[in-house]
Amino acid sequence: MKISSDILKQLAAKAKGQCRFSEPMSRHTSFRIGGPADLLVIPADEPDLQNLLAGIHKSRIPYMILGNGTNLLVLDGGIRGVVIKMTSGFRQLDRKENTLKVGAGYALPRLVEGAAEMSLAGLEWGVGIPGSLGGALVMNAGAYGGQMSDIVKKVWGYTPSGDRLTLRPGQINFGYRHSEYPDGFVIAGAELEMQAGKKTRIKSAMEQWMGKRQRNQPLSLPSAGCIFKNPANDSARRLIGVAGLKGKKAGGAKVSSKHANFIINDGGAKAADVLKLIDIIKERTHKSVGIELTPEVKTVGEP
Ligand SMILES: Cc1cc2nc3c(=O)[nH]c(=O)nc-3n(C[C@H](O)[C@H](O)[C@H](O)COP(=O)(O)OP(=O)(O)OC[C@H]3O[C@@H](n4cnc5c(N)ncnc54)[C@H](O)[C@@H]3O)c2cc1C
Repeated sequence: MKISSDILKQLAAKAKGQCRFSEPMSRHTSFRIGGPADLLVIPADEPDLQNLLAGIHKSRIPYMILGNGTNLLVLDGGIRGVVIKMTSGFRQLDRKENTLKVGAGYALPRLVEGAAEMSLAGLEWGVGIPGSLGGALVMNAGAYGGQMSDIVKKVWGYTPSGDRLTLRPGQINFGYRHSEYPDGFVIAGAELEMQAGKKTRIKSAMEQWMGKRQRNQPLSLPSAGCIFKNPANDSARRLIGVAGLKGKKAGGAKVSSKHANFIINDGGAKAADVLKLIDIIKERTHKSVGIELTPEVKTVGEP
């Protein structure tokens, strides 16, 4: 689908935030992979986002929402239409007793650290998860027995026509790395219910989890974290290891030798290489242990 460049220019002219045409998505994903987006906009604030959505709605062009790009495989042909990057304009943080009101663009590692400084418990498990709050709410990110849905009080955001909507957890249907929002819903922020805790205890849990990550995960190499969801009562990492796939390569993509559920960009990997490796892993694990793995990473864009 070819999008009229006049429409894109009109949208950019009306935006207050930063706009970039033909922006390589490899600059916005932790995989360092992804073809160009026709137009990438970083809205400056909520009214700017609302105007942008209204303009997109009127011109009927597609859009997708980007947080920190740490759970995304963007295909090599890039993304048609508008990519709305929810980061710098949405980084407010307010505290009222044990409730934190946080913008969708707030980085999870900073939030985890900030909560600990305020002696608020409930997010220690999130240490080292490199996403934005918005992305964590969509993925229902979690680790070490905790997940976002444990602390969400409400989520607010905008519908594709720019209407503001507030959702309660019961309306989001959270599950394991799963959530359901209305189609095209852009999360602008959330209220999180934390618990009063002891700073030393919170920090010690964070250190323990971070140490575990550093020992087990290839953190210095570009990846999108775990590629597959864990099947019930088992770990995808273990199964991929059993299938003998550690170190397996397809082009520039490689199954990490440190953590078999991570695919790393070993240098110049294309999205097509990652897709090929995903297929190989699915096929071989199925053959070897009879379990069908489901990707956790979201694939977007055009091949
Ligand atoms: C080294 C490493 C370790 C990781 N460890 C973990 C882990 O332990 N546990 C875990 O759960 N994940 C982990 N991840 C994956 C990832 O960090 C999380 O899924 C994170 O929550 C994704 O947030 P993001 O902002 O990067 O989202 P993105 O990758 O940018 O987007 C993910 C999805 O959310 C949507 N989205 C993002 N922001 C918004 C918004 N404001 N409104 C509406 N939709 C939005 C996107 O359209 C997309 O569908 C890891 C990743 C890496 C690279």
